Amino acid sequence: MLTNTESARQTIGLDSGIPKWIFLQLLESCNLRCKMCFEWGDNGAYKEKPELKKLDLAVVKKIIEDCSPARPYYELYGGEPLIYPWIDEVLESIKYHKSRVHFPTNGTLLERHAEMLVEHAPERIWISLDGPEEINDAQRGEGVFQKAMKGIRKLYEVRESKGSMYPKIGISTAITPINHQHLERFYFESLDMSMIDCISVELQQYVTQERYEHYAAVLKEEFHVQSAPIARGFISSPEHFSSIDAGNLARQLKLIEKFCKDSGRYFNAYPKVISEENIRYYFNAKWEQVTNMKKRCVFPWISMEINARGGVTSCHNFYDLTLGNVNEQGLLDIWNGPKYKEYRDYLKKQLFSICPGCCLYYNEKPSQ
Ligand code: SF4
Ligand code: SF4
Repeated sequence: MLTNTESARQTIGLDSGIPKWIFLQLLESCNLRCKMCFEWGDNGAYKEKPELKKLDLAVVKKIIEDCSPARPYYELYGGEPLIYPWIDEVLESIKYHKSRVHFPTNGTLLERHAEMLVEHAPERIWISLDGPEEINDAQRGEGVFQKAMKGIRKLYEVRESKGSMYPKIGISTAITPINHQHLERFYFESLDMSMIDCISVELQQYVTQERYEHYAAVLKEEFHVQSAPIARGFISSPEHFSSIDAGNLARQLKLIEKFCKDSGRYFNAYPKVISEENIRYYFNAKWEQVTNMKKRCVFPWISMEINARGGVTSCHNFYDLTLGNVNEQGLLDIWNGPKYKEYRDYLKKQLFSICPGCCLYYNEKPSQ
């Protein structure tokens, strides 16, 4: 008979020797240049890359096969995942091995891929949209909103015509100084909610200069990593968010949350508890005062991320600290290897200073 502790360890995957949640950054390229993007935006770290990479399909298939005994949950990232030339084969392979998969997209290529997406039926697709047309396009580029709307309609029509339940169609919105006043109008006037199954809203992720410098110093001293250019793409400051009216934002978010609850739609928010105070703390970089903030993070024990260069990291989007490379070594050897242990040992004692800039910080489990 298992003790409670042993049972809990098995439930969250600590003993399986295989990660339960795998993020694959399929490629670095994107067809957009959204202003707030930490990869391709105003402060984006990818703009300086001399060459853009993508994961080799054979490597991706090997990962999916090697991890199949644990049937992990997958999230696909980019850049823009729908640009990845073998996206259909990746979805097919995940489905074949009976795992679930979600991914975000900017929506501009949905119309072209609608048939393929209904055929391979990932569980959920999140279309990233930031507000009504003029607001969205001010952040993401002219014409993006209309392209995404056409894509959503096509995907919905193909799915309905085939009598399929999947993919579920979600809208994901990052709240920034540009769109914070327009969420109510966006969700209740600009969108045809009859086609939308789920909504995710998150306050724009950022780290302060001070926290970034602390993180960069820890990487140097503890892990011998000399620079942290990716995390630099997240740097911002409370001044940047000073125009945000926390009361009005909380009111709008609560309306959206209630709408989802009343209509049976899935709703997700980061941070989890929506209140005027929490929004104010968050945008004033007082993360420790936000409700339910964590003292530790379990994700290094259950999830891993493979970036487009093959680098393995445990922290979503923070690719400066890699713990191995799948182009050179088996994924499970890395997961169970000494570098991962050293890294977990550090995180047993404390979080990183950049953790509040990581969406996993606000998550307890894979989104439903
Ligand atoms: S679509 Fe996504 S990856 Fe591409 S620039 Fe916009 S936020 Fe960045
Ligand atoms: S919250 Fe921190 S430790 Fe956890 S995954 Fe994110 S960056 Fe890593």
